[in-house]
Amino acid sequence: MSYQALYRVWRPQRFEDVAGQEAITKTLKNAISQGNTSHAYLFSGPRGTGKTSAAKIFAKAMNCPHVSEGEPCNDCALCKSITQGKLGDVIEIDAASNNGVDEIRDIREKANYAPTEAVYKVYIIDEVHMLSMGAFNALLKTLEEPPMNVVFILATTEPHKIPLTIISRTQRFDFRRISPQDIIRRMTYILNEKQVDYEEDALLAIAKAAEGGMRDALSILDQALSFSDGKVTLDDTLRITGSITQDLLIAFIGAAMDNDTEKGLTLLHHILQEGKDPNRLVDDTITFCRDILIYQKTQDETVLKMSKVDDSFIHLSNQAQPEKIYEMIRTMNQTQQEMRLSTHAEVYLEVATVRLTQPIAVNTEAKASTTPIPSDNQELNDIKHKLKQMQKLIDQLKQGEGNRTTEAVAPAKRKAKKQSSFKVNTTKVYKVLERATKEDLAKLKDVWPDLMDALETSQKAIMKSSQPVAASPNGLVVTFEYDILCERASNDTLLIEAIGDYLEKVIGHRAELVSVPGREWPVIRKAFIQQMKKGSQDDDELNENKEEEKQPVDEPVVTEAFELFGKDIVEVRD
Ligand SMILES: [Zn+2]
Repeated sequence: MSYQALYRVWRPQRFEDVAGQEAITKTLKNAISQGNTSHAYLFSGPRGTGKTSAAKIFAKAMNCPHVSEGEPCNDCALCKSITQGKLGDVIEIDAASNNGVDEIRDIREKANYAPTEAVYKVYIIDEVHMLSMGAFNALLKTLEEPPMNVVFILATTEPHKIPLTIISRTQRFDFRRISPQDIIRRMTYILNEKQVDYEEDALLAIAKAAEGGMRDALSILDQALSFSDGKVTLDDTLRITGSITQDLLIAFIGAAMDNDTEKGLTLLHHILQEGKDPNRLVDDTITFCRDILIYQKTQDETVLKMSKVDDSFIHLSNQAQPEKIYEMIRTMNQTQQEMRLSTHAEVYLEVATVRLTQPIAVNTEAKASTTPIPSDNQELNDIKHKLKQMQKLIDQLKQGEGNRTTEAVAPAKRKAKKQSSFKVNTTKVYKVLERATKEDLAKLKDVWPDLMDALETSQKAIMKSSQPVAASPNGLVVTFEYDILCERASNDTLLIEAIGDYLEKVIGHRAELVSVPGREWPVIRKAFIQQMKKGSQDDDELNENKEEEKQPVDEPVVTEAFELFGKDIVEVRD
């Protein structure tokens, strides 16, 4: 028999075996025992956290005649054929490969036939965010009128890419990253079953590197098994994951504590020569520093992210000044940013090492300048303050991490993204206004009532209190009486699509809907007009060789005209 990957062989077959998602599996089990299942579910979460495994177990539990306390028996013919992926009534679809409208239309037709062998027909659509807009549309129609005894389980790593209209029709479960402890427990179980020997440190290193994903953990374990003869060792796993041993990290941080530049640089070169990933070193150092600070405060091993509490860890945490650790986190964070923009990671790491092995001047000054209050309270407050700062820093780091893959470094953008509440996309509004004409607006207003009629009921409800206020050949600005409807409209890709489609059919060109809360519209409009005016003044100044004290454009007239027609006024002035 050919070799099968561990994560396939050891895929959990009972809710009980799904690691680290107790709250979810308990709810699903209860739904089964109480015969209270819904017709659509959304399982979202990072990769390898058990979404598709849970979906398959759920499909079995719904159909197994011997279900007990919400768990499938895994022994009857139905269970077995679902496990093997052979039961016609449980259909797994990978949206990453089947993203066409046709496939979903196909589902729509077939979903109407009753299940042949099972009680429930179950569609598991993996990576559902990959569906095309048309496919989402078709899926939405099915979810709006769900056929009897059909259950949809949608799984995704990127729920933000799914239209809200779909999400609102599902029961949603957010799968968490799995804790190192839970990953280690599962790996220990598997290795014991396989009767393979292992070093405990090796499992910790794997769990750390897997960053909360069981599938990643098991594939690293797979590699470690094929690497070694019969025993999973720390050395092998570190070689596979590119991680740095805790001993090396402690030595490196210790050099910083002792302000020993030479030792720090020697260690750094040693680490890099071993082929360790510079980014990994920075990441590991930051997490390790975090662990030291937390341990200093709590003495609680279970809240540590990556560190193992042994003698040298305790020694370091006793010896380390919180100020210095805090400084390390800050320096490493900065180094991480710099490395991102450079191909010379080593140079930045060397600079960081030199900086970290200097005595921290700022803090001694600060200490000298404050009046010494020999009270425990003061000290405690200091620590509290430091912890708060650190938490802030870690949050910032996380924020940075999340954005790293999605966009290039753009601090301004990132800041804007942080606010989760609805924000008008002024860039889009301006784009429409720049090309807006009163003819376009008049045309739009003409067809508006028909357009509203053509929308689906749910879409009509959103657009009920809206009003078109500006239009260009390819965009329209619409104001809403209620912010909540405005937000829903601007998030509703299906709605935006539908309006675009309609306009293309009726007016002959597509226009994209841009939504603005009614109360914000006057402000936005004014800001746009002022910007246009400023732009035109700048142009004039350039044209007339910076003539001093140029008369401003006749303000009230311009403002009013702008307010009415947008782009038209530009032509008039020209
Ligand atoms: Zn069964």
